[in-house]
Formats: sequence, C-alpha cells, structure tokens
Amino acid sequence: MSVSSQAVAPVPFVDDDALQAMVRRTPLPPLLAALALATGDLSLLRADLRPDPAQITLVHGGLSSEQRAEGRRVAVEALARLRDHGEKLVPATDTPAVRQAVEFMAGEAVSDDCLSLLLEELAVTGDDLRAPDWRPDAIDPERTLHVTVVGAGMSGLIAGHRLEQAGVPYVILEKNDDVGGTWFENQYPGCRVDVPNHLYSYSFVQRHDWPQHFSTQEVLLDYFRSCAEDLGVRRHIRFGTEVLHAAFDDDTRRWRVLVRTPGGGQETIETDVLVSAVGQLNRPNIPEFPGRERFAGPRFHSAEWDHEVDLAGKRVAVIGTGASGIQLIPEVAKQADELLVFQRTPNWFMPSPEYHADVPETAQWLLRNVPHYAQWYRFWLFWRLAEGALPAARVDPDWPADGRSVGPLNDALRGMLTGYLEGQFADAPELREQVVPQYPPLAKRMLLDNGTWASALKRDNVRLVSDSIREITRHGVTTADGHEHRVDAIVYATGFRASRFLTPMRVTGRGGVDLHANWEGRPRAYLGMTVPGFPNLFCLYGPNTNLVANGSIIFFSECEVRYMLGCIRLLLERRARALDCRRDVYDAYNQLVDEGNARMAWGASSVNSWYKNADGHITQNWPFTLLEFWQRTRSPNPMDFEFL
Ligand code: NAP
Repeated sequence: MSVSSQAVAPVPFVDDDALQAMVRRTPLPPLLAALALATGDLSLLRADLRPDPAQITLVHGGLSSEQRAEGRRVAVEALARLRDHGEKLVPATDTPAVRQAVEFMAGEAVSDDCLSLLLEELAVTGDDLRAPDWRPDAIDPERTLHVTVVGAGMSGLIAGHRLEQAGVPYVILEKNDDVGGTWFENQYPGCRVDVPNHLYSYSFVQRHDWPQHFSTQEVLLDYFRSCAEDLGVRRHIRFGTEVLHAAFDDDTRRWRVLVRTPGGGQETIETDVLVSAVGQLNRPNIPEFPGRERFAGPRFHSAEWDHEVDLAGKRVAVIGTGASGIQLIPEVAKQADELLVFQRTPNWFMPSPEYHADVPETAQWLLRNVPHYAQWYRFWLFWRLAEGALPAARVDPDWPADGRSVGPLNDALRGMLTGYLEGQFADAPELREQVVPQYPPLAKRMLLDNGTWASALKRDNVRLVSDSIREITRHGVTTADGHEHRVDAIVYATGFRASRFLTPMRVTGRGGVDLHANWEGRPRAYLGMTVPGFPNLFCLYGPNTNLVANGSIIFFSECEVRYMLGCIRLLLERRARALDCRRDVYDAYNQLVDEGNARMAWGASSVNSWYKNADGHITQNWPFTLLEFWQRTRSPNPMDFEFL
C-alpha cells in the first residue's frame, strides 16, 4: 500500500556502498518506520521485521542476525529511492499510517491512550502537542493570576516555557547565578548523563546532533542555557535569589514568598501560585562521620567541586560509589598519586558500550537526512526504556525471599549482570569479591558501564576499601578495623538529602501549618505535586515521581507542568482564588503508591538507597508505568480539589 502527500527532497547523494555503511550499526525498527513514512511505502513495515516485544530493551529489539541483514537490505533500497527520486511523505495527520509505523516499531498493538502519549513524545511534525491551547484573558479578562516558580533547572524551565506560551505572568527565582540546576551544580570531572541524550531532552526542543550518546555536563548545561534563551524564559529569571520562607495567607489566599536577594537583603514577593521546581537532588549530603571537621586537608562534595584544589600528586579518598562516585573516580584516578575508594554498597552495572562513545558520523548522517528519523530514533529510545525494564523490577509473591532477587525476570537479570561483573574482574579475584552486590538488581539505581569501572579499580594507584568508616581524623579516614588511611584530600560522593524535599525552604500552609512538620519526615503529595492544606502549591519532581527502571525524568516534568497549568485554568474558570487537594484523595493515592512500591525491588529489598527516608519508606519513586502517570496528569479532575 502506498499513501502519499507532501513531496520530500532527495537525500544528499552517497553511493550504495556508503548507504550500506550508514545502516550497518543503526537500530532498524525506527529507521524502517521513518523510511516507510518518508517514502509513503508502508509495505516496508513487514511483520517479519518487527522487534520482539519481550526483548524490546535490547538495542536491536531482539531482531536475529538474519532479520537484521534483511532489514538492512530493505532500508538501503528505500534510502536509494529517497536519494534518486525524493519521495512522498505520509502526513503525520494520517493517523492509521502513523499508528501502523508505531505498532511496527513497538512490535505490538498499542492502545489509543498509548498512541496519544507516543505522538506527543514523538512530535513527528515538529508540532508541540503538549502546548497549552488556552489563554487566561480568554477565560477571565478581569483577572491577572501570577505564578512564582522556584528553581531554573530542567523542570523550572519547562514551567517557564509553558507559562510563557499560555501568557500567564510569572517569575522564576533561582538561587544560583545561572540556569541548569543539577547540570549547573555538578561540575565534577567525568559528569555526564546516563540516559541516552536523544531521549534526555525536551519533547519541544529536540536535538538530533548530540555529539555523544550520553552527553557530558558541559554539553547539557549548554543545552539548558540555550533553551532558556531561545524560549524567552531567561528574562523572567531572578538569579542569586533564594527562597527562605513561603507562607500561604489565609485572608488573601495568596502566597507570600520571602527571598534573600543577591545583595544579601530580603524581599517579599506575593503570588497566586507557587511552583517548587527544586528537584530531589539539590542539597548535598555529607554524612556526620565523627571527627569530620578535624580533617586538615581540602574536602568537598561532588556537587560542590573545588576546582582550585589540584589533586595531582595527592593521596585522595573518595567516599561513596553511587552514580556520581563511579563517574568521578576514574577521572580522579588519572590525576591522584594514590586513590582510596570507600565503598559501602557495591552497584549493579548495565553493560553499555556506547557510554562514552561519539555518535558515529553514519548515524549522524541518517539523523540529519532521513525525514523525521531523528524523532523516530528518539521514540525508539523512549519505547525501549519506557516500561521495558519495569517487569524485571516487579516482585513475584511466589518467589523465594532470599534477598538476592525478587522474581524470575529479576533473577535472570541478576545472572546476566553478575556474569558481566565477574568477567570484568576475572583477573582481580580480591576485587571481584567486593564488587558483586548481594541485593536484587533495580533495588538501587542501575549504573552504566563500558569497562571504565573495572579499569579504574584495577589501576596500581587505586585501592577499594569496603570496611565501614569509623571516623575522620586530622590526617585521613579510619575504618572499623581501626586502620587509619592517611590522605591529603577527601571527596564526598555521598549523594543528596533527597527525601527532605524542599529543604531548607520553610513552607507554611493554611493555618500556618509547616509543610515539613506536616510530613513528619515522610514527604508525599498527590501525583507528586499537591498537598492538602497547601493550596496552589505544586511540586515538580516531587515525592514519588522518581524513575528507577523506566525512561527519562524529563517526561515526568513535562506531564507535571501540563497538570499544573490545567489547575491554573481551573482556578480561572471557577473564579476561585485557590484550590486545595482533598485529604481523602491524597490518602487513597498515597496508599496506592505505597502498595505499588512494596511490590517493586526497591521497596521489597532492605538495601539502603536514596529512594528511602530515614524510616525506610520509599519517598522518591513512582512504581507504575509512564502511561499511568500520563493518564493521571493529563488534566486535573476538579473533584480532587476544594476550591477556596
Ligand atoms: P547516591 O547514589 O546516593 O550515592 C551516594 C554514595 O555515598 C553511595 O555509594 C552511598 O553508599 C555512599 N554513602 C552515603 N552515606 C554514606 C556513609 N555514611 N558511609 C559510607 N558511604 C556512604 O548519590 P549520587 O551518586 O550523587 O547519585 C544520586 C543520584 O543522582 C543518582 O542515583 C542519579 O539519580 C543522579 N545522578 C545521575 C547522574 C547521571 O545521570 N549520570 C550522575 C550522578 C547522579 P550506599 O550505597 O551504601 O548508600
């Protein structure tokens, strides 16, 4: 069948051999989907070239080598047709054709809701399907409703962009001197994203020319800076401005936000709606080791890297081997005379050969030249990572509770990952004993590796110390066995006070109730965003919205911002000053989330992680599918709120 409409210019001339080279390593499902629509030839979407849904997390979606060879032949033929004649692009409005391509790539039928979600994420025409389609003055021309956003990181910029699009007046208060949040603060050597960048980017500012699959911090910061500028958000940001106290005024039903200004003074800003976009990982955690202050040499946290300190020639201790630690340790190892790595709990690593690799020129050529391939490639990453790994994190109630795995899929994953680590450390048996975790995969964050971790630990100048830390002395770190490890500098890669959401801001709601006192150490929010008694307060990347096994957190923030704007619209439509989440809705939701988390590896396992609060409750993670969050946040249900 051939459906046609808009003419497509031919791709630049390269000979057939070059075309063969272009497709040699590229994942075929998104390429065939893009080519089918670019050529108008939907017969390219052959049933025998569909990925296997059960193996969708694999780079090629489980296609056999024969299928890949045939897929490449078909792709080269279609590329040659595009090169020689140009073709006819199937319009993105041809929903049956687009559905056919989506289902080909997914390897299975998708529901209408799922298709809608995917079309938004795919943004195949470049149309921004999540943009607000209303303006406040069209709803209530008499009223100006003002929004204050706290934080100009990844989520705060989305909020600014959507408010800008809707024409809602807003200001963003940012404690730092630049945008980027976590990507501004974390400047430690080796810092890079560990979600593929073609996916870890806004659906409304897609970029096809990422230089690497997993960009470095500098590249990401640059992306967020240019988004802030190009989207017109930067001019709304007040830098160097830190929120100290936000108080809901019961009389005016507005928020009064006390800030510290760049000069060190204080100012109060009044606003109708308060949006916290401070994230989960913005306040460094330095454990209170006895004697911590005694240490005589330089010491700093990974997120507060002291670039003045030259680690060359020094004996350095790095405490912590989480996502930050495993990125900076290989870099510090190259500089330091000697490096002691203090590990409390080993990590599971997903083998990822592309982790430090450039996107090859062949792939860049396809991304540049095949119409909409860049979007389909992004969508392929989204689909593979979306719910792909979630089943492996689910607890099987019939599975023996030995603490090592939570179900058959989880156990199979454990086997694969153990094999990887044992292979990496095959020539270092004393290390091998220390690096294989005893807890189930996905109970803590899965880290990526391309061999760098083992290479770093096996260096002559590096020593892995797995004994627990007893105290910090003037000259080093003393472990439980009483040994003092003398060092010149200490790097704390010890994570963040994640479960203390919104600290150190003080937030008081109706009747002056303090948010943190109200939470009693167990932060929670309806849909991660709203808390009863705190009207018109919305948290982005709030409680229980972190993802462990499925996808990019940017998707969640985009969903949350749409919901927040939906609530603003409700306020205008109902002529209400404020809306307050109903307690029964909040309680029922939290029960659901708690039950969901208990059924996941991270909730069932007793291993420590930043997903838990001090009492061991999961305060950070979303236990369900992305689709479910999208459905729940697509538009607010007025029945969930009391209007004031
Ligand atoms: P983290 O995952 O919480 O790791 C903290 C490390 O410090 C862990 O190894 C932890 O050991 C150790 N630690 C904490 N307290 C300790 C104590 N009292 N004694 C000894 N060791 C202690 O923090 P992170 O590495 O900064 O990463 C946090 C999150 O930030 C990540 O999970 C990820 O979401 C994000 N992140 C992402 C990237 C990326 O995209 N590339 C990079 C960095 C961070 P235990 O494991 O025993 O608790």
